[in-house]
Amino acid sequence: MQLLSTRHALKKAGASLLRGGAYKPRTSPYEFQGLGVEALKILREASDETGLPVVTEVMGTEDVDQICEYADMLQVGARNMQNFVLLRRLATIKTPILLKRGPAATVKEWLLAAEYLLAGGNENVVLCERGIKTFETETRNTIDLAAVALARDLTHLPFMADPSHGTGKQGLIGALSRAAVAVGADGLIIEVHPCPERALSDGPQSLDFAAFEKVMQRLKDPLRKVGVAGPKAVARA
Ligand code: PEP
Ligand code: MN
Repeated sequence: MQLLSTRHALKKAGASLLRGGAYKPRTSPYEFQGLGVEALKILREASDETGLPVVTEVMGTEDVDQICEYADMLQVGARNMQNFVLLRRLATIKTPILLKRGPAATVKEWLLAAEYLLAGGNENVVLCERGIKTFETETRNTIDLAAVALARDLTHLPFMADPSHGTGKQGLIGALSRAAVAVGADGLIIEVHPCPERALSDGPQSLDFAAFEKVMQRLKDPLRKVGVAGPKAVARA
């Protein structure tokens, strides 16, 4: 995490929340696991300086109290969407929860996971579509925008979409951000790093500052065809 150099670029480009992982759910135990409480302090400092509220992931019940001291919103990651013990614990607090959809969860399972929070007493829930597993291997996950449109009909809860995890590819984030907004997403999670090639986590899906600013700018344009390069010339014999 290069947060101290990133925070001002995010704010300048129009971000309204600052999301960073202090405790990171990594597929391999040998990969960077996050800086823990040290990162929470950096996030808090960056938030106090910019006024951007902090969102960070909570992986286990044992971390809830500590993370609540530093964060304004807690993320339940995709892998923990059906961690019912964690959901029950988070239902007892008032801190807003960002509930990511599990990679293999149906919309119904996702909404029922949210129900654990709501029924248990925490009504501050935001859902986040971050892509599901499909047979496709060219993208990291398959961002399911139909699910966003459908879930909007089924619940009053606000929605975000995460085209970074939903595609895994820098070049697709702009187009999918616009598409997500077009189907009704209330917000987007976009991963940003000052130098994506050197990121310890998720570099290929992170935008540098200039690319992020461009994506944010284009979100203000009226909707139109979202291709990056425009119509391709067709070679004719
Ligand atoms: C993340 O947001 O960095 C993350 C690990 O997301 P997900 O839980 O969607 O994989
Ligand atoms: Mn990530």
